[in-house]
Amino acid sequence: MGRYNQWCQLHITLLCAVFCVLILLLHPLSAEGSSDENRMVLGPHYEVFHDPTNDVTVEELMAGTYDSSFLPSTQTYPFFWHTTGTMWLRLPLHELIQGDTSGYVIEGIDKQDHVEAYFVKEDGSYTVQEGGIAGVDHQSIRYRSAVFFVEEPNVEEVYIALSGVLPLMFSSILYTDGGFLESVMTYKFSIGLFYGFVLALMLYNLFLFFSLKEKAYFYYVLYMLSFMAYQAAMNSFDLELVGRAFPDWLLYRTLPISCNVLVVFMILFGKEFLELKRHLPTHNRVLNIFLGLSFLSLLSVFIVPNVEAINNVTTSLTVIVLAFLWFSGLTMLLKGFKMARFYMMGWTALLGSMLIQGFGFLGWIPFHPGLYETVPAIAACVEAIFLSLALGDKINLIKKEMNSHLEEKVQERTQQLEEATRRLEQLANTDRLTNIPNRMSLDLDLDTQLQEATANGTPFSLILLDVDHFKAVNDQYGHQVGDMVLTETANLLKDNVRKTDKIGRWGGEEFLVISPHTEIEEAQELAERIRQCFETHSFEEVDQTTASFGVASYVEGDTLKSLLSRCDKALYEAKEKGRNLVAVQKL
Ligand code: GH3
Ligand code: MG
Ligand code: MG
Repeated sequence: MGRYNQWCQLHITLLCAVFCVLILLLHPLSAEGSSDENRMVLGPHYEVFHDPTNDVTVEELMAGTYDSSFLPSTQTYPFFWHTTGTMWLRLPLHELIQGDTSGYVIEGIDKQDHVEAYFVKEDGSYTVQEGGIAGVDHQSIRYRSAVFFVEEPNVEEVYIALSGVLPLMFSSILYTDGGFLESVMTYKFSIGLFYGFVLALMLYNLFLFFSLKEKAYFYYVLYMLSFMAYQAAMNSFDLELVGRAFPDWLLYRTLPISCNVLVVFMILFGKEFLELKRHLPTHNRVLNIFLGLSFLSLLSVFIVPNVEAINNVTTSLTVIVLAFLWFSGLTMLLKGFKMARFYMMGWTALLGSMLIQGFGFLGWIPFHPGLYETVPAIAACVEAIFLSLALGDKINLIKKEMNSHLEEKVQERTQQLEEATRRLEQLANTDRLTNIPNRMSLDLDLDTQLQEATANGTPFSLILLDVDHFKAVNDQYGHQVGDMVLTETANLLKDNVRKTDKIGRWGGEEFLVISPHTEIEEAQELAERIRQCFETHSFEEVDQTTASFGVASYVEGDTLKSLLSRCDKALYEAKEKGRNLVAVQKL
């Protein structure tokens, strides 16, 4: 089963890797920067002018009043971050298109607040087209980008005015109408593939959640959902799909809203997956604080009027949380938690893409629209795959751990049971008062000895001991003292028999010694030795007491009954002859 799972995981990973490469190849932005006859990246062809007052009109620009303030663009993808005022871009269209300008299309990819394009003809007249959030209803096609159609055949130059509360940027491409159609189709196809993939992964994990009831799967699904919303906001699908149905203030804020929701589910997933509450309580507390901050940040999106401030807070919080979740994963991995393996791979991919994005925004690497389109999409796919693998991996590890735990438990229980059985047996075979084997135990030993003697003719002897006038001890000193005498008797016997001999309480004040491999004379000597010890021993309270001994040995044809009866007779004889004696019964 484990091997099968590994096999599956490997194939899923490979399939996903192939998928990512496919996205990369199909994504129109991967061909970005390369111009052909159907498309041209416009960035380097612009001249840029910043009007901080918002007062300058296109007529004034056309009149040449501000010509000296226009500077050639240094960026392939013009990017100005948050700027008050208006950024003007001037494009000498007639220089780029030789001849008829009609049928060309200018696409501005980035989500903007206000974009106005002024198409100035040779005779000085012009037409205006609107794009961005403000112009979403005026655009001739409903598309995620601002799309401007060059309708006149004799357009000289184009002025583009960017303004509003969103970061100002204008990653723009000039297409022939055929080129534009092709770009739209390719984009729709690759984006369909991307969302289809993410959706499939999400549904797969949703079903896993239903069957496994693991909360981490649930948070993963919510994380993927919010990720899709975030990516959709990033790609301006809110504009294309809902457009005017959302008020402007909401359209400005879809990105920070979805980003904050994403961070919330990221934290919930990370906490649950790594079981931080149990393994790293400090990290868990820090993340709880971040969770509170993300809720506050989400709330502030609806309250704070300044979109720039909202964007900055959200971006900073996201980067910090992401880095901290990465750090938690690393700590868990270093602590030896195997389940953090795939988690780390996924999180590293996402963090890497965020860093690249950050570097782009900071201007440390050239800004490119791929930074917020292709890079996060691919990184998120990689991350989604690894997190999904991580969940599967974790379930596997838990299963393995549970199995070994179960085995350990069974072993432990078996040992306990064996110990209890041994204790019970011991209890059943031991005399409670004297702590030596009882009659039942002696019976078993007698059986064994007799069997061996019958089979092999091995000799063995019995010594039966009876305390003399024990009734009188009880009567004179009390039952408790009598008990003490019995215990001392048992101890005396223990100390004076040989290692191979077995002793036990036969009943009342009678004790039996079984001596294997012992002929009758030897047994008689042993009994005599014990008798003398007994006689000379100083018992507590009663001081001196004696015992009588009956000795008998196995002879061929003996049964237990006949042997014990001889031993009994010997004891009776000892008593008869005056006690404190050893008597032997021979056949
Ligand atoms: P003899 O020399 O003939 O053996 O005399 P005896 O008094 O030892 O023999 P008898 O059989 O008359 O008395 C045995 C007594 O042992 C009777 C009984 O109360 C006592 N006894 C039996 N078991 C126990 C015990 O566990 N504790 C105590 N204290 N007394 C016991
Ligand atoms: Mg007796
Ligand atoms: Mg007695």
